[in-house]
Amino acid sequence: MRLLVAGGGLAGSVAALVAREAGAEVRLVRAAPGASALSLGLVEVAGERFIPSLGEPAPRGVGDPLAAARQVAALTPGHPYRTLQASLERIPEALGLLPRWFPAVFGPMVPGRFATPLGTVRRAAGAQRSQAAGALVDGSRLALVGFRDDPALFDAGLVAAGLAEAGLDARAAWCDFLDRRELVGRSPFELAALLDRPEEARRLGESVGRAIARDAAGATLALLPPIAGIERPVETLERIGAAAGLRAGETLGWLPSVPGFRLQRALDAALRQAGVELVEAELRRLEPGRALLESERTLDFDRAVLATGRFIGGGVRRGEAFVEPLVGLPLWDGRVALAAQLIEPLLGDSPEAPAAAFRAGVRIDQRCRALDGDGRPLGWLWAAGSVVGGADQGADGAGLGLCAFTGLLAGRDAVAAS
Ligand SMILES: Cc1cc2nc3c(=O)[nH]c(=O)nc-3n(C[C@H](O)[C@H](O)[C@H](O)COP(=O)(O)OP(=O)(O)OC[C@H]3O[C@@H](n4cnc5c(N)ncnc54)[C@H](O)[C@@H]3O)c2cc1C
Repeated sequence: MRLLVAGGGLAGSVAALVAREAGAEVRLVRAAPGASALSLGLVEVAGERFIPSLGEPAPRGVGDPLAAARQVAALTPGHPYRTLQASLERIPEALGLLPRWFPAVFGPMVPGRFATPLGTVRRAAGAQRSQAAGALVDGSRLALVGFRDDPALFDAGLVAAGLAEAGLDARAAWCDFLDRRELVGRSPFELAALLDRPEEARRLGESVGRAIARDAAGATLALLPPIAGIERPVETLERIGAAAGLRAGETLGWLPSVPGFRLQRALDAALRQAGVELVEAELRRLEPGRALLESERTLDFDRAVLATGRFIGGGVRRGEAFVEPLVGLPLWDGRVALAAQLIEPLLGDSPEAPAAAFRAGVRIDQRCRALDGDGRPLGWLWAAGSVVGGADQGADGAGLGLCAFTGLLAGRDAVAAS
């Protein structure tokens, strides 16, 4: 069976890998990195549901992503979790695939609290390994590591103040790692690439150790911005920690995002290793059995998975109205069809109210098969990830966790159906 996957974010990559494992010949076409490459380091299944704030006791069942997704399904008509209710118990399996396939960035998913570079705290079902190493726990004594010679790189004072307000012992420690003129003003990506070199990671660790002894004595966790290497952030953090004399972890990212870049590299590495054919090209059209590229080249396939993302990826486009450009599928917001609707009324007039526009996407059935305007499966097309309508990450917190889950279901079902 020849499967074509349109889209190379997390949803498309998981669908491709699952299908490959099930024996399909898989070709993945992607135009560019999408929203997955911008993600900040969290793996969000259903937002902050059931993950206690700092200082709160943890009742039974806390931090259970499956229970959280079930709650979203119960509360949100038209949400993919509601449509896929019968398969929700496979969410833990989907999360378990992440460390297996992308070990450079993911370990076992542990729900937790994570510091943002603005000093706020985000709660999520899991995070990349280097953010998980910086997870916040009650009683932590934190040193937020800033750079004396480039204070704009990471506002350690602001982050420490925010975390102290959240009840943690958090202080800023200003290191002198950037005291060489050529290092000042480097982007987080350039510094991360520099820190792939073991001697630079050790030099940063020594500088962090001195800064903490001076500014934050007694700290037990050094929290750095996400710059600890591109290739092997966990090993780099261990090196920094060993030279500094305490554990080291990272905060979440900001844009453009080093954790998102690391994730995209890990996806690409896993696809190549599994023997998925990667085609870097823009698709113009998908029809039964045939994909047309911008270059006029055509690709034949038996079945396809649409994992083209939403506004950032390009799976949903907005002009005067919303369209799904590759197949021309009808869009809905989880409640009503959005066919030919003008955008303006879908944005809502209150910034707090969830807006229908942010839930725009294609319709699926309980097997992740894409549906036509009459609600019937097309038969040859499955859909996964944020191209699926009815979810709004800002409101329901279904981010990369939903992508992994729907990628798993779509990839498996597309192969099994053949
Ligand atoms: C700034 C930002 C930060 C975020 N941070 C987090 C986070 O920390 N944790 C979390 O859980 N969620 C986060 N999210 C949400 C999460 O990133 C998305 O839900 C998720 O990445 C969507 O993945 P996807 O695979 O569905 O689509 P995408 O990652 O957007 O991938 C879509 C793919 O489709 C391809 N494509 C589209 N059209 C075509 C075409 N015509 N031809 C060829 N290829 C095409 C694109 O090139 C791309 O490869 C964040 C979102 C944003 C915007």
